[in-house]
Amino acid sequence: MKAIGIVAAMHGEIAGLVHEMGTDVQVHRIGQRDYYMGTLHGRSCVVVLTRIGKVAAAATTVTLIREFNVGEIVFTGLAGAVAPGVRVGDVVVAHSLLQHDIDASPLFPQYEVPLLGCSRFPADAALSARLMQCARDYLEHDFYRQVPAQQRSTLGVHTPALHQGLIISGDQFVDCPQEVQRLRDALPDALCVEMEGAAVAQICHEYGVPFAVMRTISDSADDTACVDFSAFLEQVARVYAHGILRRFLLGIPSADANGHPAVSRTAHR
Ligand code: SAH
Repeated sequence: MKAIGIVAAMHGEIAGLVHEMGTDVQVHRIGQRDYYMGTLHGRSCVVVLTRIGKVAAAATTVTLIREFNVGEIVFTGLAGAVAPGVRVGDVVVAHSLLQHDIDASPLFPQYEVPLLGCSRFPADAALSARLMQCARDYLEHDFYRQVPAQQRSTLGVHTPALHQGLIISGDQFVDCPQEVQRLRDALPDALCVEMEGAAVAQICHEYGVPFAVMRTISDSADDTACVDFSAFLEQVARVYAHGILRRFLLGIPSADANGHPAVSRTAHR
């Protein structure tokens, strides 16, 4: 069984995962990234920080595939809300991903990756369905226990919702309402914007590796976007990512509200 690649763009998210892998971890340093090889919740994993932006994410993804021969990739991280119904604290699982800043027109249609003939890269349906189920179960059963009411209120996270749809990526941090409106007008089905997911998607498409992407909404991509990222990462996004990935890796069936691995623990491996 090949290892699963677990990828995040920001340090706060992988530090805890690496800690949970325990002492039996091999660290491989390649191209200024540390790849942590070990076992997480019973599954062989390679955990790595992509760093921020599409080039950084693409380079890391190629290394995961070529050097570590991972069989599938799951990418977690933060994103700014674009669709009106998406709020801070919500979780978005990608149905497909697009690079909103790629434009080689008139040679190729806007958003199309030249020579690939593709602008929207679909995430793997089965992996994404499992991630959706784990996120739904996490938000219903674990979230209110793990993030205390006071913390939820400080960070403005009340009743987190789960969405699935288009995630758009570009090499810009979006923090103005005009830009959000421009993105909404151009790509009306975009749920959220971030800086890496579509690059991971393109590389996985080129290598035929199944992948899924999950984003926690950290801001509204407008002039309030300069939230305290480190507090949000530490107190919400990291907790979500761990809780959801735990269910994902253990293959916890949705009925198990207590999070105990049940008989079918290996069913998804
Ligand atoms: N102030 C932060 C900036 C992080 S960049 C710092 O100094 O560390 C934002 C990260 O979160 C990127 O990895 C990106 O994928 C995601 N992200 C969150 N909100 C975003 C937004 N509004 N626009 C673009 N990317 C966003």
